[in-house]
Amino acid sequence: MNSGFAEGNRMSAELPRVVADLPVADAIAERLAGRVELLPWDFPGPADAVYTFGHPTVDGAFLDRLQNVRVISNYGVGVDHIDLEAARQRGIPVANTPGVLDGATADLAMALVLAVGRRVVEGDRYARGPHFLKFDPAYMLGQEIHGATLGIFGLGRIGEQVALRARGFDMAVLYHNRHRKPEAEQRLGVSYASKDELLTLADYVVLTLPLSPETRGFIGAAELAKMKPTACLVNVARGACVDTEALTAALRSRTILAAALDVTEPEPLPRNHPLLELDNVIITPHLGSATVQTRLRMAELSVDNLLTGLRGGEIRHRVV
Ligand code: NAP
Repeated sequence: MNSGFAEGNRMSAELPRVVADLPVADAIAERLAGRVELLPWDFPGPADAVYTFGHPTVDGAFLDRLQNVRVISNYGVGVDHIDLEAARQRGIPVANTPGVLDGATADLAMALVLAVGRRVVEGDRYARGPHFLKFDPAYMLGQEIHGATLGIFGLGRIGEQVALRARGFDMAVLYHNRHRKPEAEQRLGVSYASKDELLTLADYVVLTLPLSPETRGFIGAAELAKMKPTACLVNVARGACVDTEALTAALRSRTILAAALDVTEPEPLPRNHPLLELDNVIITPHLGSATVQTRLRMAELSVDNLLTGLRGGEIRHRVV
């Protein structure tokens, strides 16, 4: 799985020391070679920077152990694995890679909408199995995509791209944010809805929210109960935005029709998790931004953020 990934480089001791969850992708290691010394996550310190590749936890104790950290550069837009308050208190900027992955993540969200509505993954399993002996016009009926209503929780950078795609599929689009976006409503042809309205009206409920204390468990038993029995939940945000136990129960009892999850809590799910036994759920292994082109842009941006932070320059994408 990890072919093409480098274990890091050990260069001159005078280079800035960067602690990273190795191995990082080749595209990153190549850009950093000769410019920094990449060190493993358990490096005792002192170090000048932290580079987070695969969502390792960064907390105050970790930063204190490394003593001299001047920047934390994250490969990806979601920074819920980093204690931002701990970084802020220590005056350490945290950088991420927003914008460059919106299209790819929205493409995957739309792929999941199409796949879950039209039972593509289930159909693939059926077509390969022993029971597919002849075409039957009565089997595997899915739900319409065109003409259906798609509801987006989190109409931000990625959410807007999902809306654009859904409009292209002739869907009506609702969204819910804490703040209304009249300009985006005009530009994208989407309508604002309260949380309850969106849950009640949408045929496809798509999550593109950041994980925060406010959005942890954003979709639980009460929310699932408000959805249509023919509705599908699609999560490309973070697994913990959904209560896994409540979702498992809702899918089992057909409170909702189906779900498609690019992210789960925990991630990965234990191999014996009951969710993995259900036919009405599609699970992909956190593939949102996983295209060759997007991952290259994320590598370039995160390396630029890291080197700029080390120089004490103006970081392009700073979270804190
Ligand atoms: P963004 O531009 O900041 O958009 C987030 C949107 O969520 C904003 O419109 C925000 O609007 C809304 N929001 C935040 N808290 C909310 C709340 N409590 N209730 C309702 N709406 C809320 O972020 P983005 O770049 O689109 O990324 C979103 C998230 O996607 C990331 O944080 C990351 O976790 C996830 N992601 C996943 C993958 C993947 O591989 N599956 C890839 C990339 C990103 P208001 O502030 O007005 O509420």
